[in-house]
Amino acid sequence: MSFRFSERVPKNDSDPVGDILKVAGSPDVISFAGGLPAPELFPIEALKKVTNEVFDESGREALQYSSAIGYPALREQIAQRMNKQGIKATADNIMITTGSQQSIDITAKMFVNPGDTVIVEKPTYLCALDVFRSYGAHIVGVEMDEDGMRMDQLEKAVAANPNTKFIYTIPNFQNPTGRTMSAERREQMIGIANKYDIMVMEDDPYGAIRFAGDDIEPVKFYDNEERVIYLSTFSKILAPGLRLGWIVMNKDLMPKYSVMKQSADVHSDNLTQHIVAKFMAEYNIDEHVNKIRKVYRKRENVMMAAIEKYFPAGVNYSHPQGGLFIWVEVPGDVDTIKLFNTCIKHNVAFVPGEPFYPDKVTPGTFRLNYSNMSEEQIQTGIERLGSAIKETIDQ
Ligand code: PMP
Repeated sequence: MSFRFSERVPKNDSDPVGDILKVAGSPDVISFAGGLPAPELFPIEALKKVTNEVFDESGREALQYSSAIGYPALREQIAQRMNKQGIKATADNIMITTGSQQSIDITAKMFVNPGDTVIVEKPTYLCALDVFRSYGAHIVGVEMDEDGMRMDQLEKAVAANPNTKFIYTIPNFQNPTGRTMSAERREQMIGIANKYDIMVMEDDPYGAIRFAGDDIEPVKFYDNEERVIYLSTFSKILAPGLRLGWIVMNKDLMPKYSVMKQSADVHSDNLTQHIVAKFMAEYNIDEHVNKIRKVYRKRENVMMAAIEKYFPAGVNYSHPQGGLFIWVEVPGDVDTIKLFNTCIKHNVAFVPGEPFYPDKVTPGTFRLNYSNMSEEQIQTGIERLGSAIKETIDQ
């Protein structure tokens, strides 16, 4: 029979990143490919304890259907956390989602008609690109430098695309580059959004994982017209398997978001929401996040030192002050898929840059993750990667 798919569905079944992660997942391979948090840091005992308490104290409520926008006690806890981070919000501005991936999907579904422009950093989070493509967006990539998205280029892109719906930005420790947007540019971004009357989707899963330098206020901090839709998640500060994230939005948007959320999955797992709310009430989540920061700082430092030691001269790389990723640029027209295959022979893996680009790919780029491997594995893996780069350049 013929499956008459909608326009939203990709035309073919190829999944190059899935294939890369599969190869990278073999037990002999030291993988810097995925973006997995360190599982040894998941607070398993604490979550076990609060889960039992939830069952004992409010099992019936937690297992029942609930409201689309989420469990009020959790929204309250998140609002308090947001205020500490420079975002003025109450529970009325906050909707719970099944992770930021769903927040991106619902937001795109809400605003993007086929042909509408979405402006993104170049490169950017590849699963956001998949979402925008699925809604038929015209995706325009804006160049970045060490201070994040370039505002001169952003303004040009917005001016050239009057049908722009929103700017999608990952201002902190961006996936894939690890770069952070400067405070000045955040303020400028709001200036541009105000001037052209467009929205901003600020995706911030990594902001809390800062291990060097000073905190920078979110883009939403500068948002004097309430046009920023701010997304964050428990995936990197607690555990990604919980599948819980949140959106901070203009209150006027809440009824529509609530309807869209209901159509997507009625509401996010109510039991998990109770568990996380209880965890936040009984434990200091900032203390937990501090443990994560310390471990990631160490791993990043080890990776950086190994890169300096083992990578050939001329290779550029970002210097993240937090998050999970380092971005590497090998000079010349190096084909990183070829480099990846050489690396696999050396039992080490990364994600090539290509899938992170909305359009023209910068050759020789790839992403490294340091959160999921031990310091010893990082040392050994980077030494192998250095040899593979030399081999590929010399060919
Ligand atoms: N946005 C970015 C930039 C990410 O890197 C990720 C996860 N890797 C997500 C969103 C999705 O996160 P979640 O687990 O909350 O769905």
